[in-house]
Amino acid sequence: MEKLLSGKVAVVTGAGRGLGRAIALKLAAEGANLVVNYRSSEAETQKLIKEIEELGSKAVAVKADISKYDEAETIIKKALDEYGTVDILVNNAGITKDNLLLRMKEEDFDSVINVNLKGAFNCIKHTSRVMLKKKSGKIINISSVIGLIGNAGQVNYAAAKAGIIGMTKSVAKELASRGITVNAVAPGIIKSDMTDALTDKQRESIVAAVPLNKVGEAEDVANLVLFLASDLSSYITGQVINVDGGMVM
Ligand code: NAP
Repeated sequence: MEKLLSGKVAVVTGAGRGLGRAIALKLAAEGANLVVNYRSSEAETQKLIKEIEELGSKAVAVKADISKYDEAETIIKKALDEYGTVDILVNNAGITKDNLLLRMKEEDFDSVINVNLKGAFNCIKHTSRVMLKKKSGKIINISSVIGLIGNAGQVNYAAAKAGIIGMTKSVAKELASRGITVNAVAPGIIKSDMTDALTDKQRESIVAAVPLNKVGEAEDVANLVLFLASDLSSYITGQVINVDGGMVM
């Protein structure tokens, strides 16, 4: 049977671990060749490349801080050098620097906006040139339910993730006529290093607000990203789809 993404080229930011890793493996398992970006997880990313190759797909790694415009460009350049194109961009990389507003330092606000929001802008900007020329492409931005409902202690993160949603809808409107779809995924609480940092009490109180009564798996997010990256979703653009066990409805 033909795989969903045979012959496609996908870029995943922050792919060395967590949701990005699961997304990269899922796209590779469906036939995509990958450019996997990392910032510090070098060993994990090399291991990921081997796993992707075992699935029968190709992968190359690019170390880059996506918050820096020129570094983000090196990721897309690598895709062009290696494969000659980019079909799918998954803006996954993200950080948290939580604190209540009164204690939040200006630099912690700036760094979360710079990585989570400006980083996605940088990658979209560089990728869109390629996609506009070929008149096709799929852009998937990882937002968060926190961007929809807010959260005490996450003013910076909520602002960045809400910003991602506004950016997704605007870029979707700008690029739709050129055959490019742009959608956002809003995970709830998903198992990863980011949520392993929560205390048991914090995790329990979040799960209590999840109708499906459990923490999600990275693969739950990866499954939706695969759908949005494939032609199965060709009439869907500008949407925000939650993967949150019913937390926000
Ligand atoms: P994670 O385990 O903390 O992984 C974060 C990833 O982002 C790492 O691969 C990291 O790369 C990369 N990264 C951070 N700063 C970067 C930068 N400046 N340039 C390039 N890469 C950078 O987090 P996760 O849980 O997998 O989260 C992935 C995405 O899902 C994030 O956007 C997050 O906000 C979103 N999300 C997660 C949850 C959840 O419950 N886990 C819920 C909602 C939304 P290195 O390790 O190489 O530094």
